[in-house]
Amino acid sequence: MTKSPTYLDYAAATPLDRQVLAVMSGYLKRDFYNPSATYLAARHSRQVLEAARAAIAQILGARPSEIIFTAGATEANNLAIAGVMNQYPGGEVLLSAIEHKSVVAPTRAFRHRLIPVNHHGLVEPANLSRLINNQTVLVSVGLVNNELGTVQPLREVAAVIKQARQSRPTKPLFLHTDAAQAPNFFDLKVSRLGVDLLTLNAGKVYGPKQAGLLYKTANLNLRPLIVGGGQEGGWRAGTENVAAALGLAKALAIAETRRPNEVERLQKLRQQFIAGLRQAMPSVIVNGGLKYAAPHIISATFPGHDNERLMMELDECGIQVAVGSACSAADVEPSAVLRAIGLSDALARATLRISLGRGTTAAQLNRLVKILQQLVTTR
Ligand code: PLP
Repeated sequence: MTKSPTYLDYAAATPLDRQVLAVMSGYLKRDFYNPSATYLAARHSRQVLEAARAAIAQILGARPSEIIFTAGATEANNLAIAGVMNQYPGGEVLLSAIEHKSVVAPTRAFRHRLIPVNHHGLVEPANLSRLINNQTVLVSVGLVNNELGTVQPLREVAAVIKQARQSRPTKPLFLHTDAAQAPNFFDLKVSRLGVDLLTLNAGKVYGPKQAGLLYKTANLNLRPLIVGGGQEGGWRAGTENVAAALGLAKALAIAETRRPNEVERLQKLRQQFIAGLRQAMPSVIVNGGLKYAAPHIISATFPGHDNERLMMELDECGIQVAVGSACSAADVEPSAVLRAIGLSDALARATLRISLGRGTTAAQLNRLVKILQQLVTTR
């Protein structure tokens, strides 16, 4: 019998939690109704959907009417950016220099500028303050970076936005965060974060893929991207995917209860792993910094070693890690995120992303250090 591989790419995808699967399959076996139909059985489907929405709203400290279900984070990011910016011709969006491609790509249709980050990948609020001008309508800063694990000082960013609003009270100015990598480890109360728009993704929280949401504060208007039957309060048309919404609600609820233990456990594993890497290979560079790091992502550069080759060799040894971010795996260009923090193309091409999750153990990480050491020192 072959041993199952060691999975260390949780930032790309998380396995479906059994309890999430049970809730979804229970619904799918029982129900198929269109929640917009008006007979009794369909009204039950509507109730199930709205209960999922209410449960999620409670986790975010939001109103149920502020939750828009989408098919994943990419759609939610597109809706946040284009949905706001389409209403303000000539307006400008500011985005951090290390946003995910699903934030970067929709901004290209509008005037946009990048907010630089320091070598840890952190936005410095004073820089943002200088960049905001009379044209700025939207600021987008992701909570946890998917390549580096850097956690942005979102409350400080929100304070800058608040101050800017006060100095130009008649102009619109909104803050969006892509929090797709955050729910397993961070409190997502929107008032605490100070955001107007927030993106989430079930596929990174042990829920189903193509299931996500956009939180949109009640007093903000959006131009919907998908129009039709007026579902989701008119913000996103199409017959609702009740099972996906249920799965997302259950996945977020489980993440809430597991969070304190999981944060502590993974923080410890991450620190031990980084210490082990540095001891075994003194030339290794750990990107992103320790202080502002999410517990699950390690970006490590092995100078002089091709990351594609390392990744494939590790795969042959039964260890699955990523080169940069999985979403850019098809790219020939080195990661824009790694460039933004000052890595040369050569160092970016020598960088692996190792991401931890519920199944990760110290023994797996120790084995990874040993194998990496062999691969790196024998060449
Ligand atoms: N945003 C972040 C930070 C991500 O890590 C990802 C996925 O890697 C996405 C957005 C896009 O998610 P999806 O492809 O599920 O829509």
